[in-house]
Amino acid sequence: MACRLRPKQVQILILPTQIYTQTERLFMATPSITRIETFEFNVELRNICGSRHGLGLMYSPGENGIVRRSAMRVETDTGLSGEAAGQLIMATRQFEMIAHMVLGRNALHRNELYHDLYFELRQHDALAIGLLDICLWDLAGKLYESPVYELLGSKLRPLPAYASTYHGDRAGGLDSPKAYADFAVECKELGFTGFKIHGWLDGDIPGEIETILATRDSVGDDMALMIDPACALPTFADALRVGQACDEASFFWIEDPFPDGGKSFHAHQLLRDKVRTPVLMSEYIRGLHLKTEAAISKSTDLLRVDAYQDGGITGALKLAHVAESLGIDVEIHSHGPAHRHLMTAIRNTNFYEMNLVHPDAETSGVNIYKNYKEGLDAIDPKGNVYAPTEPGLGAEIDWDYIRSHRVGGTVYEL
Ligand SMILES: [Mg+2]
Repeated sequence: MACRLRPKQVQILILPTQIYTQTERLFMATPSITRIETFEFNVELRNICGSRHGLGLMYSPGENGIVRRSAMRVETDTGLSGEAAGQLIMATRQFEMIAHMVLGRNALHRNELYHDLYFELRQHDALAIGLLDICLWDLAGKLYESPVYELLGSKLRPLPAYASTYHGDRAGGLDSPKAYADFAVECKELGFTGFKIHGWLDGDIPGEIETILATRDSVGDDMALMIDPACALPTFADALRVGQACDEASFFWIEDPFPDGGKSFHAHQLLRDKVRTPVLMSEYIRGLHLKTEAAISKSTDLLRVDAYQDGGITGALKLAHVAESLGIDVEIHSHGPAHRHLMTAIRNTNFYEMNLVHPDAETSGVNIYKNYKEGLDAIDPKGNVYAPTEPGLGAEIDWDYIRSHRVGGTVYEL
C-alpha cells in the first residue's frame, strides 16, 4: 500500500468535481488512467539549421531552424496527472498503436505497462513507451510528494556535465580545429569538466584529426574529451584514423563513428581491437535485449541509454542494471529532467550530456520549462547540474509555449 511508504501532512486539494485529501489519495492508490493527450510542437532555434528531427543541427547565421518535439499529459480519475516533454515526434505517432492498452490501467503499475507494451510493439522500436513511462514516474512522485530520484532510492547529488557541441559548420562558427579548441577552453572556464566534439558531417578526416589534437592541446590534461561523429565517417579506415588520434590525445570515448547507423557489432568489435580509446555505441539501436547483446558481444565499452527512447525511466534502469551486472558504465544520452533524476539514481555512470551548445547559438536543450533550464549557463561553478527537488520530475512545463507552437497531437480518453 502506498500509505506505508511515506506518511505526509494532510493537504486539501481542490479538484474540479471532487475534493480528496492527500491521505485519501494514498489510501486509494489506484489512480486509473482516464485521459491522455499528446502534443507535437515546433521549437525554433535561432541561427541553427538542420533536420526537423533534430539530427545534424549546426550553426547557420540568420537562419531559424525548427526542431519538432512532442509532449504528453496523462490524467487519472483521482485528479492526479503526469507530464513530460521533449521526445521525438515519431514516438507520438507510434503511441496511437497502444493508447487503447493504456486507458483504464492503474497509473502506478509502470512495470506491468512496460512489459505489456514492449510485447505489443515487438515489431517496432518501442519508442512509444518512453514518454508515457516518464509521465507515470512524474505522477507517482506527485502522489508520494517526492522527487523521482528519491522514489528511485537515491539522494540528491551533483551530476558532472559535459558540453556537447553542435556539429561543425562552414559558416564562421565551429568551422575550424581552432574554433573547437577555443570553445573547449571557454567551456572549461565556465566550469565544464568534459567536452564532446560533434564534428563535421562532410567527411573531413584531416580536419577531425586536427580538431582532436588541437582541442587536447588547448584544454590540457584535466578535461575529459569525447568525439561523436554521429555515424558520419565514410569508411572503417577513417574511423580507425580518428580513433588513433583519440588514443594520442587520451580521449574519454569515441562514439558511433561508422556510417552503419551505429548498428554493426562486427565493425565496432574490430575497432575496439585496434584502438585504446573506449568505444561508445548503442545510441542507435533500441531495446533492452539488443543493447544487452551489444555489451556482451564486446561491441561497446560503454552502454548508451535514453529514457525518452529506451522505454522510459523503467527501461533505462533495466539497462543501467545490465551494465552494472557486467561491470561497465552506462552513459545517458542527451538532456532533460527525466535524465537528471535517472542519473542521480545510477552509480555506474559518468557524465550528464549538456547538448547541444555553441559559442554563438542558443542551446538545443529547448527551454520549455518555467523553472528549469539547459545550456552553457545551467551548470554550477564546478560544472555540475542537479535534478529538480520538487515532487515528480519537478520541472514545470510551459504549456503556453507548447500550445502556441503546437502543430499536432491527439486526445485519447475513456
Ligand atoms: Mg551520439
